[in-house]
Amino acid sequence: MEPPQLFVSMSDLTLGGGTESILPSGCAICPKQEDLHPCPSCVAIRYCSDHHRKLDRPSHRLICEAIRSCRTDVEEESQRLRQTPESYFNINTGIFWELPETTKYLVALAMLVQSFRQIKHKASIELQLTHIVHVLRLGRRDFMGYRYQVPALMLRLHKDQECYDFLKWWIHKIPSKININIRLLSLPSMQNLNLPCVGCRNENPFEPVNFFSDKIPITTLIPLTLLKIKLLFDLERLELSTSIFGLRLPAEISILIMEHVPISNAVAGDNGFIASKKARRTTITRLKEQIHLLYCEIKDRNPHFWSAMVYPVHQRESIAANSLPRTVSEVQTLVRWNYESWIETPGAIAVMQNLKG
Ligand SMILES: [Zn+2]
Ligand SMILES: [Zn+2]
Repeated sequence: MEPPQLFVSMSDLTLGGGTESILPSGCAICPKQEDLHPCPSCVAIRYCSDHHRKLDRPSHRLICEAIRSCRTDVEEESQRLRQTPESYFNINTGIFWELPETTKYLVALAMLVQSFRQIKHKASIELQLTHIVHVLRLGRRDFMGYRYQVPALMLRLHKDQECYDFLKWWIHKIPSKININIRLLSLPSMQNLNLPCVGCRNENPFEPVNFFSDKIPITTLIPLTLLKIKLLFDLERLELSTSIFGLRLPAEISILIMEHVPISNAVAGDNGFIASKKARRTTITRLKEQIHLLYCEIKDRNPHFWSAMVYPVHQRESIAANSLPRTVSEVQTLVRWNYESWIETPGAIAVMQNLKG
């Protein structure tokens, strides 16, 4: 089936957010991006100077103190577990949720991750990702549903290759239909502690989506769709840059420029796309088809989801305690986990809005 004509014209790329939606990564006060120092108390935000750190203090103080308090709780609990005759971290990795003695530590970590969420900065996202992967390693049962939040965090950090590897790994480990409410309580693979936390490396993110059958939860399909859109946007940007620079500059210079065009590490790492126009064009067509397939699949799984992403105001307000498939409450959880990653990719929501018609 021919996908509809909706995909990116470059002028669309500011739709769905604009620059203010991009994840800040520099000094919290000025545009400086280099020689930054983290806030010594929370480490979740960065400054170019002591002067700018002090200037930001009045607005940063409350959340900074909350994070610091959560960090102290985590450190105290961690210390307690290490001081046991046989440190819990040496012998119980993977089964932390099963042990009553480790629950306080896991809860303290969850509170810390929750407090990081209040800060929209690259440093905070990096910390969330590090802590969540740490919790996944310690407790495979994943009572917090963290494994569904990891892909969006990776996409926000442009770790697109790692995101695809993560999705592939957890997909292969999912044996049957599940939804976000089940929390993997009884999955045998979650009990196999010999398996690494992320066991796939350098999987091909451009490959067809056919194997994402109905066994794959909607929680996986959503970040996968954004990942494909990011790849598409990068290839579109490469195409545009060749048409701008390619005619006027010697080939070796335009290649040097093009190497800096991709945002996604999955595209930047592949010189074939920079060298070959044919490779770019073929892959762009395939990605559009894949995105269309994913759009339809997600719509089929939950008819409310795309509307909630395009008009998210009410959906993001409340969080469902119980999320059944195909319900509005499922949407609330899904939007909450994914929305930031989508608006930080300007144009991504516009693509889906056009598909929605
Ligand atoms: Zn500054
Ligand atoms: Zn701070």
